[in-house]
Amino acid sequence: MSAVLEIEGLQKTYRSRRRGTRHALAGFDMRVEAGQVHGFLGPNGSGKTTTLRTLLGLIKPDGGRMAILGREVPRALPEVAGQVGAIVESPQFFPHFTARDTLDLLASAGDVPRHRVAEVLELVGLRDRADERVKTYSLGMKQRLAVASALLKNPKLLILDEPANGLDPGGIREMRALMADLAAAGMTVVLSSHILGEVQLICDSVTIISLGRRVATGPVAEVLAQHSSGTVRLRLE
Ligand code: ATP
Repeated sequence: MSAVLEIEGLQKTYRSRRRGTRHALAGFDMRVEAGQVHGFLGPNGSGKTTTLRTLLGLIKPDGGRMAILGREVPRALPEVAGQVGAIVESPQFFPHFTARDTLDLLASAGDVPRHRVAEVLELVGLRDRADERVKTYSLGMKQRLAVASALLKNPKLLILDEPANGLDPGGIREMRALMADLAAAGMTVVLSSHILGEVQLICDSVTIISLGRRVATGPVAEVLAQHSSGTVRLRLE
């Protein structure tokens, strides 16, 4: 299998007068194979958001190497940008717009053909509610709309920062079904979480980060078995 995402020795230190020096990433490694729903698991403050934002060129790293679809990041980001869909901040939608209006607007701004809007609404399971206003949506439906917006360009890699945050068990099961559908459609998904149970339910494989370093990686069942036998020690809420 080919790697869709590769990170080696990634380093990032934040320096501020108020908060002092923080080594957010201290030589972090990660590898994600095609077609996986890959969990990026670690406690709050372990470096997940910094990693994802660095991958997308939003933060400049201090060192290390990253590649998406075999192309070096950030140099090749403009070329691979259309093949990467990402949600790294909670998207704000106009509450009085319907889901269809929201996606139509994003499609026209992003030069995406209109027929793609119907396709992504179907993919995320919002077709029947597409003409209702976003303000009537549950959190889970808003998350699915966010995923729909990231899917407009039909990306090969989808990067989601804490997409299951705040969802109830029903919402998490829906998220699992959606991620499985996306993987079946040939997409690779990387999703971050600080909740072990979420990753266990939703993902095929996992990388665990703690204090800016990889502490384990592999198929979810294998890694979590090591974890419960004490090989991998974690502090996860
Ligand atoms: P969370 O789940 O809480 O978002 P995370 O795993 O995504 O956590 P990061 O947000 O990447 O972790 O933070 C990693 C470390 O870097 C933390 O110690 C955090 O306090 C610090 N940090 C993050 N952003 C900044 C910043 N802009 N300035 C200074 N320190 C920062």
